[in-house]
Amino acid sequence: MDWRRDTPLCIGEPLKPVDAPLGAADANSAAQPDATDVAIVGAGAIGLSIAWRLASAGLAVTVFDRGDAGASLAATGMLAAATELEPGGLDLLALALESRGLWPRFRAELESQSGIDIDYRREGILTVAIGRDEVDRLKFRHDLQARAGLTTHWLDGPSVRAMEPALRPSASAGIFCADDHQVDPRCLVPALRRALAARGGRLMENLPVLSLEIAGGRADGVVTPQGLCRAPIVIVANGAWACAQSRRPPHRGGDRGGMRLRPHRHGGRGFCAAGRGPAGISLYRGHGNRGGVDGLPADLGR
Ligand SMILES: Cc1cc2nc3c(=O)[nH]c(=O)nc-3n(C[C@H](O)[C@H](O)[C@H](O)COP(=O)(O)OP(=O)(O)OC[C@H]3O[C@@H](n4cnc5c(N)ncnc54)[C@H](O)[C@@H]3O)c2cc1C
Repeated sequence: MDWRRDTPLCIGEPLKPVDAPLGAADANSAAQPDATDVAIVGAGAIGLSIAWRLASAGLAVTVFDRGDAGASLAATGMLAAATELEPGGLDLLALALESRGLWPRFRAELESQSGIDIDYRREGILTVAIGRDEVDRLKFRHDLQARAGLTTHWLDGPSVRAMEPALRPSASAGIFCADDHQVDPRCLVPALRRALAARGGRLMENLPVLSLEIAGGRADGVVTPQGLCRAPIVIVANGAWACAQSRRPPHRGGDRGGMRLRPHRHGGRGFCAAGRGPAGISLYRGHGNRGGVDGLPADLGR
């Protein structure tokens, strides 16, 4: 199997500088349109990706964002369908693997249309256990991956430290997922914004959607501080805010519905740390999935 590396890795390589603008450079800050084919709430990775694809298909798309930095700019950017398989996640695995497989084409089209390198890397992800206690948990994860038919590689302490010499001596095991990839969200988001603009999509920044316009039992537009923008298709992609019940501002002649969305409950708050070395393997450490925290980024390395 050709997954071992000759080149030693080291933790702490700075991320590549981001040339792309994170601010409003590509945003359209003019007045919102009265009507649009598609209104999208939220300009994170999800809203922008959908917007870009629909604008590319010839639809008039308007994205509204209230201006808070969403999760997309906090993420580590791991495309970790195998690494992040959790108990109960089998139902989503096929979708996650298929999604991961779409990235090369998605990346090529996005980079070509935006002119921004999104730092897509295919060198794999190494998950590390620090200390004996974590080895059992990592073994459990590896067994789960094997039962799901994923090809991942178990490394004992000496092997994981040989793969990444900057790990501290208490690094006691690892799983290497060669097929998991990584992207830099600080490049991805600006690239999506630029590609959307290139396709004629509108991005209305600092403009929150207050509520959905409901007509005949279905969404028919969005309401912002500028008023109503009618849209036969409304896509709610406002991430963690999707659970917030929006207020219902008074509006003449309209059945103004709140967003009435419920969050899909997950195990709890989590945390993860990721880094990468010069030869490119992404390092991943833990997810506290019951409110617990497995460790701090600093305890990965020497
Ligand atoms: C610390 C951290 C690390 C992560 N690491 C990874 C990882 O390695 N790999 C991975 O795949 N995923 C990771 N994730 C998850 C990933 O970041 C999210 O799943 C993804 O970014 C969600 O994108 P989104 O577009 O749905 O939401 P967001 O990026 O949160 O965007 C939502 C947008 O909606 C806007 N908004 C909210 N309410 C309104 C409103 N009423 N009107 C208008 N706009 C509104 C917000 O301002 C925001 O810009 C991580 C998340 C975190 C927090």
